[in-house]
Amino acid sequence: MKIIRVDTAFYRFPAHRRIVDAIQEFTHMEVISATIHTSDGQTGIGYGYTIGRGGRALKVFLDDEFVPLVLGEDPADIERIWEKMWWGPHWVGRGGIASLAMAPIDIALWDLKAKRAGSPLYKLLGGYRDRMPVYDTDGGWLNHSQDEIVREAAELVGKGFTGIKIKVGKEQRSEDVARLRAVRAAIGPDIKLMTDANLRWTAPEAIARARLFEEFDLFWLEEPIEADDVLGHEKLRQSTRIPIALGESLYNRHSFKEYLARDAVSILQPDVGRVGGITEWMRIANMAHSFNVNVSPHFLMELHIHTTCAVPNAMWVEHIPFLNRFVVEPLRIEDGYAYPPDTPGHGLLLDEAKADPHLIEAHSWAA
Ligand code: MG
Repeated sequence: MKIIRVDTAFYRFPAHRRIVDAIQEFTHMEVISATIHTSDGQTGIGYGYTIGRGGRALKVFLDDEFVPLVLGEDPADIERIWEKMWWGPHWVGRGGIASLAMAPIDIALWDLKAKRAGSPLYKLLGGYRDRMPVYDTDGGWLNHSQDEIVREAAELVGKGFTGIKIKVGKEQRSEDVARLRAVRAAIGPDIKLMTDANLRWTAPEAIARARLFEEFDLFWLEEPIEADDVLGHEKLRQSTRIPIALGESLYNRHSFKEYLARDAVSILQPDVGRVGGITEWMRIANMAHSFNVNVSPHFLMELHIHTTCAVPNAMWVEHIPFLNRFVVEPLRIEDGYAYPPDTPGHGLLLDEAKADPHLIEAHSWAA
């Protein structure tokens, strides 16, 4: 069995609402797909994404560097293909665009492998549980007023969510504090309350804000400091009781390892779209398990439902319904839980009628 064709496509999907965090506005989700065709007539599909910039470069990198590397390979050899993609363009790779462009291929290979096994992906990957708690991020954007985030928080709790995330990083510390106080009062003591600063602060600022946030019994403070500043996170961890979560801005297991080894993080948030796919995500989750650290992946709930259901040390799936308007079957969420599809593969498919108006370009590459 060989890979005989790869189809790639680049879409720009507009956001379903105005989305602002402490450092940026998220106007579009750029999705780059790869569909792998085999000599015995099977297919697997995978996706990469950006939050609005760089998508075209990702598509070019995928087409120029990775498609030629995988054509002719046996799609069952996922580790071999992953290493080829890692080392092929390593001079310009090891992170960034290269790492993002690996994801569509790697995810397509896992989709194909699960389909061939007649298995939902989460069972093929390990099969630990068949549903995951979801926390919501979509009601707490930084551009929403305090009244709006309080109203949304109460509505989400009413819908069964047991965790909600509020963006922080307002100009004044007092504004962040007032917003958190109001949300905590609205949701009561038992709903998990997460916060996310999207890399905004220096270590001293993060330490000062964390001290002010201590009274709100936060479940975590996410990305308080630039992701490359491991020492800054180490200092923060030593100064606060609030668990520190990060990982959406890290690209490979080596970066996660350094955080774990320095005890500079409490919860890891790897993203299959950012770490080169499911293969590296599983390595990171398993490594975290050996440190007795939990994972709670970033975004892409439709794919992370499978990886989280596959490992014992996963805590949550993040609810941001960005893709619901463009997919054949939105992820099933009921009473605060997300349920993986029970069909073979990962089950994430774009609905052509809804997605194609946002298609920028597509190519088909044969061996
Ligand atoms: Mg985040």
